[in-house]
Amino acid sequence: VCFKSPLTNAWSESRCGTDFGPDLKRAGYDAVIIEDRSEKPVYIVINDKDIEIKAAEHLTGKPISEKIKMIRDELDDPKISVMCIGPAGEKLVKIAVAMSDQRAAGRCGVGAVMGSKNLMGIAVKGSKEVSVAQPEKLKELIKKAVKAVRENEVAAGFKEHGTTGEMVPNDAAGDWPTKNWHSNHWGKAEKIYDEFYNNKLVKNHACYRGCPIACGRIAEVKEGKYKTPVHEGSEYESLSAFTAFVLNDNIEAAIHATYLCNEYGIDTISAGAIIAFAMECYEHGIIKKKDIGDLDLSWGNPDALPELVRLISMREGIGDILAEGVKIASEKLGKGSEEFAIHGKGLEAPAHDARSGKALAITYGTANRGMCHIHPLEGMAYDSGKFDFSLAKYGLPDPNTVHRWDEKGKGKSVKILQDGLIIPDILSICKFFMYGGLNIDNYADMLSALTGWEIDGWELLKVGERVTN
Ligand code: SF4
Repeated sequence: VCFKSPLTNAWSESRCGTDFGPDLKRAGYDAVIIEDRSEKPVYIVINDKDIEIKAAEHLTGKPISEKIKMIRDELDDPKISVMCIGPAGEKLVKIAVAMSDQRAAGRCGVGAVMGSKNLMGIAVKGSKEVSVAQPEKLKELIKKAVKAVRENEVAAGFKEHGTTGEMVPNDAAGDWPTKNWHSNHWGKAEKIYDEFYNNKLVKNHACYRGCPIACGRIAEVKEGKYKTPVHEGSEYESLSAFTAFVLNDNIEAAIHATYLCNEYGIDTISAGAIIAFAMECYEHGIIKKKDIGDLDLSWGNPDALPELVRLISMREGIGDILAEGVKIASEKLGKGSEEFAIHGKGLEAPAHDARSGKALAITYGTANRGMCHIHPLEGMAYDSGKFDFSLAKYGLPDPNTVHRWDEKGKGKSVKILQDGLIIPDILSICKFFMYGGLNIDNYADMLSALTGWEIDGWELLKVGERVTN
């Protein structure tokens, strides 16, 4: 989804898994442009050529899962792809997301943009064949690509441990922002992850049909005050935001807060970052207990997490200021709170620490959509993970010969990495396959077979450069 972000006030984009994108293509559309604003809440139904705008007043205020179910029930189609906003998007919370099933187009406030248009959701179904220039060749290339991913060790690790498993090595490597960035490691990741893996993880899950990695996590809290139904969403960024960011080692509270974010429809990364910011303001007396209904915002208080998620999502009490994101909230609160607002261009920082390596620091400083670790590049993967993504032939120095804190030449390396790693974003392919055995040469071959163009890796890098700039 591409839009002007209410957080950064600039171009932004956000993406998620599920079959929504492929179904839109099967309906015959590469993109849908939404202009203007409806007087009343509506949702759009796209069924091949038929497009209908339906009244949606009865959907307002409903949590995401209920809204999606109501739309499917109304359309009498339990399988139709639906992307919708939650109550937070309706209230123009600036960190609101658009959800497709349990996957979030999470960053930069796309949900607030949909809410500003009174657009509750879009349902799409398509029955067309997608035309392919060289179908047999494409089939062969995809078969090879899937085999390469299935045989790749990194991909196998993602399948077994998901992104959440990265907590442990990242904590050790100083790539785990802790206590609103007071530190870049905590030393508690192993304990937290073990508890998650052994007691809360139900199974892994693919976010769209056919992914050979299936890194998604399905989790559950069976009982207790943080009881949470079986759901998808306990990923690395989300759980880090509700543990290390806020010094909370109660994994059940973190899972519950993540689940609530998905139901209200707010970005888990920004939500955790905003709560960490609020806790620091509380510590310094900028936010006072008497002003927040006696809520205890001490570091690590697990009970504060679900309540603050609710207050932010519903714009209630202190949540109304926090719903603006840390940059604007700190400008409103003043009293030096700007020092505690960790963001780039207005986008809250994710769960990777720029102190772990210079490539990530440069990425945070230059990324188009603000302080983003993955669009276009996970800089720490080069510096700490020693991934070269098969870009050596395009001039990228071997990461094993470069120290993570080296500065000389790092800018040029990041440029090559940015141009290369934005390619999956442009093609709308999951970036994790570039960790799991695929590279831009594979994508150039597939794109050529798909479109009939003759394109190679060099040409793709040029496209990447144009898009990045
Ligand atoms: S590897 Fe990518 S496409 Fe597959 S489940 Fe994970 S996020 Fe989705």
